Amino acid sequence: MEKKLRSVEVCKLLNGYELSLTLHEFKSNKPGPTLGLSAAIHGDEDLPIEILRQFSLELENLNFKGRVLMLPVANPIALGTFTRNTPIDMSNLNRIFPGSKEGLLSEKIAYAISTEYIPQVDCFLDFHSGGAVPTVEYTLTYPNNEELGKMIGQKYLYVKNALPGSMAYYLAQKNKPVAIVEIGGGGRNNKYYIKQGLTGIKNVMKYLKMIDGEPNILEKQYNLKELISIRSKNGGIFNPNLSIGSMHSVVSKSDLLGITYSPYTFEEIEHFYGPFNRNSIVLLKEDVCRVESGEVMFMIGNMDTAEQI
Ligand SMILES: [Zn+2]
Repeated sequence: MEKKLRSVEVCKLLNGYELSLTLHEFKSNKPGPTLGLSAAIHGDEDLPIEILRQFSLELENLNFKGRVLMLPVANPIALGTFTRNTPIDMSNLNRIFPGSKEGLLSEKIAYAISTEYIPQVDCFLDFHSGGAVPTVEYTLTYPNNEELGKMIGQKYLYVKNALPGSMAYYLAQKNKPVAIVEIGGGGRNNKYYIKQGLTGIKNVMKYLKMIDGEPNILEKQYNLKELISIRSKNGGIFNPNLSIGSMHSVVSKSDLLGITYSPYTFEEIEHFYGPFNRNSIVLLKEDVCRVESGEVMFMIGNMDTAEQI
């Protein structure tokens, strides 16, 4: 196995530093496909970086075919400020693909990824996380990538076309199989999610015949036919009723999921409930926190229409 670090130059910044992206290449001497793995396209999603680092250590002793090409930090500027968007131009890097060489800074980053990285990969896992506060757990795949999404091994799969301008949307346009792995965040259950991520990547390598063996996936996985985001109507202080354990249980329509109250008067201003008779929570905020109007508070699947796969 040959291991190389490669640098993809983006531009020179005002502070004099060169902005570049760092690619990790792990190349076997046996032919096979190239698996792309990327993280931190949103700068507040740091857990998947650790998943990729631990996986890079495992790769040293893994007898595999083909090549793994990793981009642990897709948006170094946003990682520096621990923000979802690039603070210099306020852009969401994951909405402006394929980017432009002459565009905004974020568009230049997207262009570098589209031209220097994506053409080299055959199959792609795009790692995301809940960010600083929320915790999330599900896999999103395209209709014809369902089997790939299943291989991540998470309990919930959601099959839908990704948003235009996202990296996954661009990959799909180029006919490259892609799964978006939404994993962990909020500093909760990190060991569990790291293990889940590592298992998921190895499952995909087995699926692609890059390594031998049977994929290790949950006995019961569900395809969520309906998945909705609940946003806060008003800003306030959020006081949750759910804990991280609720990610794996089904919550009824009458169960109060949490409230927000005014930090000024302490008056209760919003009560949150699941919209379905049987709600499966795939994103939640476990602790008391401030929330602004319009923030995603929960992502909830309908267990009555979910299909076991
Ligand atoms: Zn993200």
